[in-house]
Amino acid sequence: MKKGFFFDMDGVLFDSLPNHARAWEIVMARHGLHFTKEDCYRQEGCTSRDVILNAYKQQMPDRQVSLEEVEAFYHEKGEKFVELGGAHPMPGAYEVLQAIRSMPDTQIWLVTGSAQLTLLDQLNHAFPGIFVRERMITAFECPHGKPRPEPYLKAWESSGLPKEECCVIENAPLGLQAARAAGLFTVIVNTGPLGYEDFAPWKPDAFLPDMRALLDYLPKLR
Ligand code: CA
Repeated sequence: MKKGFFFDMDGVLFDSLPNHARAWEIVMARHGLHFTKEDCYRQEGCTSRDVILNAYKQQMPDRQVSLEEVEAFYHEKGEKFVELGGAHPMPGAYEVLQAIRSMPDTQIWLVTGSAQLTLLDQLNHAFPGIFVRERMITAFECPHGKPRPEPYLKAWESSGLPKEECCVIENAPLGLQAARAAGLFTVIVNTGPLGYEDFAPWKPDAFLPDMRALLDYLPKLR
């Protein structure tokens, strides 16, 4: 029986990937870097810092990039994302969260590589009464992002639950990789353009098309 539910954010709780991808594409181009929407989906789950450093490493290997530059770059990308319309709640997400919350002894955690200071406000606005700051693992709590297992390990350790009672909900191959490396049961909600073959190497425990399908699947996790 699952009691700890570890939710990834972008592409799971928020339908934010299209605008993230567009914002990355525009701001990378401003800095002379080639970056497509597909690159965004492929690297989804990494911290923004890693996305920026990877792009420089691959395309300008001799360029020294300071921490200040990375911060400024990240800020610029964030502004563009907001300008493009930001994130909207994923259809079906609130219903899933409410259904889990109504089950006895369950914990709902957020596990994201995001480092937005306004995250809790956004979550409370979109999903009132679900998330608390103490149950959020963000880039602040865990600077080592997915695909490393640390963010999910940290959520699991903090939950105090045995691993077999925990369930990760992810939409990205790197997120699945992180959850697998942490040894956790993982459900994929494939809300983006990728196919099963992109996830197959890490064998998700369930592969669902969207959050509405997860709502129907929840009884199987109890
Ligand atoms: Ca995601």
